[in-house]
Amino acid sequence: MSVIPVPQLTDNYAYLVADDASREATVIDCAEADTVLDEVKRRGLKLVAVLSTHWHGDHTGGNTALAAKVAGIRIYGARAEGGRIPALTDPVDDGDTIQVGGLAGRVLGIPAHTNGHVAYYFASLKALFCGDTLFIAGCGRVFEGQAATMVASLRKLAALPDDTQVFCGHEYTENNLRFALTVEPGNPALKKKYEWAVARRRENKWTIPSTIGEEKQTNPFLRTDSAEIRASLKRSNPGLSDDPVEIFAQLRAMKDRF
Ligand SMILES: [Zn+2]
Repeated sequence: MSVIPVPQLTDNYAYLVADDASREATVIDCAEADTVLDEVKRRGLKLVAVLSTHWHGDHTGGNTALAAKVAGIRIYGARAEGGRIPALTDPVDDGDTIQVGGLAGRVLGIPAHTNGHVAYYFASLKALFCGDTLFIAGCGRVFEGQAATMVASLRKLAALPDDTQVFCGHEYTENNLRFALTVEPGNPALKKKYEWAVARRRENKWTIPSTIGEEKQTNPFLRTDSAEIRASLKRSNPGLSDDPVEIFAQLRAMKDRF
């Protein structure tokens, strides 16, 4: 099994998960059908399924074209997205097990960015595809849920094993780390990761994947219990409590303006 990132649009990632034996492949989130199909062809793979994390067009824009061009392809996405995922053939719910391209995966309901946002977790691959909920050193904007919804969704992901690889929906890492350093400048793991990310991006290289363990050390949205982050936030908001949801909401609001 291998995971092949396929850059989409300006900063999106589609991911091909390919079974080296059967040559069957599954794509997680596809904005542009042609770039994904070119990669499938170049590698001699057979595309059998699409897994959509949420309904936004930069994650599902390629679904209709893939359904038209690839006979028999299955398109998975959350029932909770209320019919907004194009060309859906297999609606899924939180906790479902799916079997695609020789691989067993689990559907994790992680709403807040959208009401039906899901992640796909493959324990055998130690890989998590989390769309726009968890980013490297960041998290998605809360469009359809509340801060508490996002906190619960992020906790669910943070509870996965530390060596789980995190494949997220966008290349936002460098900017996210720059923001993280404004609220937790004394975190040595964060400084190190920022320097690494700047060097990677200077060479036009990807920063994915991360791991759940690394995110717990560097991602401010998973670190609402950090004394330094709390102190940073309270300097500009003296009335702020230690409630993790309040801390999260304040962090998210600051990042929205960053
Ligand atoms: Zn989105």
